[in-house]
Amino acid sequence: MSAEEWRNSTSDMAVQQFDIAAAKLNLDANVASRLRRPARALIVSVPTRMDNGRVHVFTGYRVQHNDVLGPFKGGIRYHPAVNLGEVSALAMWMTWKCSLVGLPLGGAKGGVACDPAELSRHELQSMTRRYTAEILNFIGPEIDIPAPDMGTNEQVMAWIMDTFSQHKGHAVPEIVTGKPVDIGGTLGRREATGRGVVYTIIEAAKHLSIDLARCTAAVQGFGNVGSVAVKELANIGVKIIGVSDRTGGFYDPKGLPVEKLLELADKYHSLENCPYGQKISNAGVLELKCDILVPAAMEMQITKENAGRLQCRILAEGANGPTTLEADTILKEREIFLIPDILANAGGVVVSYFEWVQDLQNFFWTEQEVNQKLRDILVRAFHEVLHMSQRERVDMRSAALMIGIDRVARAMLWRGLYA
Ligand code: NAD
Repeated sequence: MSAEEWRNSTSDMAVQQFDIAAAKLNLDANVASRLRRPARALIVSVPTRMDNGRVHVFTGYRVQHNDVLGPFKGGIRYHPAVNLGEVSALAMWMTWKCSLVGLPLGGAKGGVACDPAELSRHELQSMTRRYTAEILNFIGPEIDIPAPDMGTNEQVMAWIMDTFSQHKGHAVPEIVTGKPVDIGGTLGRREATGRGVVYTIIEAAKHLSIDLARCTAAVQGFGNVGSVAVKELANIGVKIIGVSDRTGGFYDPKGLPVEKLLELADKYHSLENCPYGQKISNAGVLELKCDILVPAAMEMQITKENAGRLQCRILAEGANGPTTLEADTILKEREIFLIPDILANAGGVVVSYFEWVQDLQNFFWTEQEVNQKLRDILVRAFHEVLHMSQRERVDMRSAALMIGIDRVARAMLWRGLYA
């Protein structure tokens, strides 16, 4: 067996991004050799009794990348393509993201290879509880705190919290974030990632002297991140001309009816039967002529094949890892302003951190306080990244990674090696 089972094309991309930033930082070689790999990677079998009486064994993962700054933190993804390499890449990006925005947290990610749309509510609950039981000894409010990601939501978080609490013998709301408000969740968490994407777009527009009220946007993915980004962009006067989800895309140069799209997605959990605009392919949404493009679905959507055809001025990465390294080079040459994923979508983990803090203190904040604190953190991080990019003459992704990696490296050097 290879010593690097977590490697695949997605984790290689994360490592290559790290290597580029590490070289620019002149990072200590010993620190770099540790940070290229996760601290711990679990693969678990998740036997689940299906509605037909048979047992199906799903494969689950939890990868913990680094906890030098604080407990591991990261979402759980339910998607058919989940694998160890993808989860490892996502865990590494969480480390840089938490560090970039100044949270006392490390990076982790989890997932189960499954299609949640194909599972009944009962099957989803059984699978979630068994997955939680399988990783139970490796998570905890001071160890590793899961949260939602693609294919999971506040209901899944509630089942995780309940399973963990049953095993401990008392309620432990602080074991997960992204829970329903009724059981210790925070106001503003559901909207936090999409809202944060828009806060960073507002800063980018100010920097570029772009009037957002005259702008158009296209958004790939219409789930938690994409749908909220669409709503918040529309609220500040941006015209939404294209949206898509796994069933395809819709385009109307005059603007799509945002409220109606949100109602459809709420009712059917997909845009499949959307009667608005012209039907286009999911990939086609990325190539629409617009001012702002927000990929908010999967990794590696913008590649060397289509990067030359993007027609946006600002690319705000709602998704994690939507742009390959080759595409990064093309976008840089084309002077498309990039708001990299670890900055653009950090709103989710920032408000997850607020939720954890509120749970630990048993003291809850208003939504206004949550949003204001979120905005302060993201605006500060945006300008730190912009400043680093200008000072070091590097692209925005490298600048964000350099800040995130440098803080982690400094903490590692202070703490030293346990040997
Ligand atoms: P979600 O499950 O709520 O929604 C995902 C959306 O993407 C759905 O509309 C789905 O139909 C669509 N989709 C799935 N596969 C697709 C494909 N192949 N092509 C096009 N669309 C596809 O997920 P989410 O929570 O919105 O997460 C989206 C992205 O944002 C992921 O990359 C995730 O890691 C990232 N992210 C999420 C959060 C969060 O708080 N939820 C935080 C940070 C980053």
